[in-house]
Amino acid sequence: MTKKYVYLFSEGNENMRELLGGKGANLAEMMNLGMPVPYGFTVTTEACNQYYADKETINESIRKEIFDYLMKLEELAGKQFGAPRNPLLVSVRSGARASMPGMMDTILNLGMNDEVVEGIAKLTDNPRFAYDSYRRFIQMFADVVMGLNKAKFEEIIDEMKAVKGVKEDTQLDADDMKLMVKRFKKFYEESLEEEFPSDPKEQLYRAVEAVFRSWNNQRAIFYRKMNDIPSSWGTAVNVQMMVFGNMGNDCGTGVAFTRNPSTGENKLYGEFLMNAQGEDVVAGIRTPQTIDQLKEVSPQAYQKFSEISKALEAHYKNMQDMEFTIEKGKLYMLQTRNGKRTAAAALKIACDMVDEGMVTKEEALMMVEPKQLDALLHPQFDAEALKGAKSIANALPASPGAACGQIVFTAEQAIEEAALGHKVVLVRLETSPEDIEGMHVSEGILTVRGGMTSHAAVVARGMGACCVSGCGDIHINEEEEYFEVAGKQYHKGDYISLDGSSGNVYGEPIKTVPAEISGDFERFMTWADETRRLKVRTNADTPKDAAQAVKFGAEGIGLVRTEHMFFEGDRIKAVREMIVSKTEIQRRKALAKLLPMQRGDFEGIYEAMQGMPVTIRYLDPPLHEFLPTSSYDIAQLAKDMKIDLESLRSVIMSLHEFNPMMGHRGCRLAISYPEIAEMQTTAVIEAAINVNRRHPDWKIEPEIMIPLVGDKNELKYVKDVVVRTADEILEREHVEMKYHVGTMIEIPRAALLADEIAEEAEFFSFGTNDLTQMTFGFSRDDAGGFLADYYEKKIFEQDPFARVDQKGVGKLIEMAVSGGRQTRPDIKLGICGEHGGDPSSIEFCHRMGLTYVSCSPYRVPIARLAAAQASIKYGK
Ligand code: PEP
Ligand code: MG
Repeated sequence: MTKKYVYLFSEGNENMRELLGGKGANLAEMMNLGMPVPYGFTVTTEACNQYYADKETINESIRKEIFDYLMKLEELAGKQFGAPRNPLLVSVRSGARASMPGMMDTILNLGMNDEVVEGIAKLTDNPRFAYDSYRRFIQMFADVVMGLNKAKFEEIIDEMKAVKGVKEDTQLDADDMKLMVKRFKKFYEESLEEEFPSDPKEQLYRAVEAVFRSWNNQRAIFYRKMNDIPSSWGTAVNVQMMVFGNMGNDCGTGVAFTRNPSTGENKLYGEFLMNAQGEDVVAGIRTPQTIDQLKEVSPQAYQKFSEISKALEAHYKNMQDMEFTIEKGKLYMLQTRNGKRTAAAALKIACDMVDEGMVTKEEALMMVEPKQLDALLHPQFDAEALKGAKSIANALPASPGAACGQIVFTAEQAIEEAALGHKVVLVRLETSPEDIEGMHVSEGILTVRGGMTSHAAVVARGMGACCVSGCGDIHINEEEEYFEVAGKQYHKGDYISLDGSSGNVYGEPIKTVPAEISGDFERFMTWADETRRLKVRTNADTPKDAAQAVKFGAEGIGLVRTEHMFFEGDRIKAVREMIVSKTEIQRRKALAKLLPMQRGDFEGIYEAMQGMPVTIRYLDPPLHEFLPTSSYDIAQLAKDMKIDLESLRSVIMSLHEFNPMMGHRGCRLAISYPEIAEMQTTAVIEAAINVNRRHPDWKIEPEIMIPLVGDKNELKYVKDVVVRTADEILEREHVEMKYHVGTMIEIPRAALLADEIAEEAEFFSFGTNDLTQMTFGFSRDDAGGFLADYYEKKIFEQDPFARVDQKGVGKLIEMAVSGGRQTRPDIKLGICGEHGGDPSSIEFCHRMGLTYVSCSPYRVPIARLAAAQASIKYGK
């Protein structure tokens, strides 16, 4: 049998979304439920894919099938396409599997031409209505199919109103509408150098083609990327018999939600306009009335509509967003779909629906998008204030939140200004570890370079600070303290605002409001915790971050990046001393300064975690990140170390690496300088002993993690240092305490040889930032720049640094899981790369059977929900 590309609404149902798109499937379902839906048919998503396979043409057989179904529609409607005496008019709408606001708008009144309009005028005895419908059609066809600017048509309408001296469109009469049709056509013909198509079949064919084309317009591509929608889905096209809301005062049209989409309140929420067609309600030309008022204006239609909305909500077990039209007092349903809602509304609706017995807890958990929770955890822009603002640039939404403050260009300026009580936004070409304090006191961070896992992004997410990174539109002049974008300069002290969720940058202050966590949030998260199998830990480097993560429900720390503890104040001096030391004696002297600081930090973290497991990762970053760069800092260091300036300069030069990310970092440092691992082990073990003495019931068992291992012997060498040092301390202190040594799997070779590595490692944690970097060979700090070209050219659809690349990197993870388990069946497995907070990656980790995911504190609630959803989908 040949493939079927077109379905009548009566042939479909709600389970056919993949083929019919969301809109088509729901129209079919409403029809099955006996609701008043105008007849129509759906051209499938497969037809869209075929259109692309046929080099953007609708092939003969699909074309024929569309026209066969048009004939069936004529039969059902009892009207004929293009027949002036009894004409059928249709609407044409796109409808992908997931609703996509980035796609094609609707075309109404298709099938109109000079003869048909006269027929309609006679039939309805309402020439104004007929010509109003005609001019709307020309306008929409020109805009949506031919890409002509809508604004020009509005100008023509405004001119005509001015000449007539009236304000409202409704004050224009039939003759005005006739004239408007003429003018619209003239404008169309002059602009496009072709006649307006008068053959209804040609109109239909071109409209269907335009919907298929819109699947790949810029807005749609962008929307798909933001929402993880694959381009292979395609869009369906719905062709539906018109019903008219603009035929008189007993007609109207509206949109409504079964519950309030901003607050979640269980009350019909929406608006309508009498004597109007669809787009009038959203266009804002006339002020619509609230749905309550329909009770008075059209009581029967209201009664029917409220019955239907209840039935639809009960049927779909979700809040619905509906469109309707009233024609001569009779109600028709044109669309229903699960309504978009704010995070707060989503939680209230989920909780209320459980209480109402409408959904189970599991169904409620599936109703909330994990990423949406984020909005509840950070300060937000005041919605009204944001509406009036215009962005000056857009870049990577690296860390969500809303920030508003005065521009500063250095971390020092940020600290100075913040100390004076000023709110600041730190604008940098890129950030370095030395900026961390400045980042901490800033409302937000904007960087010109860097991607989703660049230093600024990782650190900002860790702190819950808003960050927009990789903003190449900006030209920054750090010396003269200004940046330029779109021809305008912004100086130190000027106000800007950042939206870390959309990546938008605004050249003005926008009011923010603090985040509120309602009681529903907590209740909902308890259900998530009961449901999930994966444990959720956090990546935290300070007691403050750790305590925040515990508040958000973290069950341990999966990654303490010990180098992050060295950025502040005096510590960086000691670290620099350590790095430039030429002898072991010198180095040990510097390490001795660091030991008490590090031990104190670990104690603070153990205290904050109250006995929960903590994985401490040994020093990892490329050494040059710590080296002084300014002449002043270099001179200062020489003085502190009592060495001459020139020899310090030459040491610094000698430490230069061409490719520091693959340079002297991770376990390689401890191999060159085992005394570093000794110091860190001393700090960890002594801290744990001290905290255990204070809290004997916590029974802390330190987890020590060695980074960047690619070979069993590397791990063994460092592990021997750790074990020797730890056992000496335990013996000296007469303490029996278990501790565990494991490794990160972040080099492809480690994944390939995981069975061997597991002979030494008690646990694995996947460092998917480096694993992605090294599997693709893309620098994690620079990829943001060129990946933009990959998305545009459809080479990639997703950022592999944000979402685990399941095909490639995922294969390595799978190998490592099975290799590790082969050697050590009960091996503990986690992930601590940035992907540990990404819902689709969490689902993958669940399927791989990992023990836990670890992510920045502000993503812990998201991970808890994503883990619960994975359990529901794939079983615990
Ligand atoms: C990783 O590589 O995924 C990781 C967690 O370590 P880092 O980001 O510190 O290199
Ligand atoms: Mg790493």
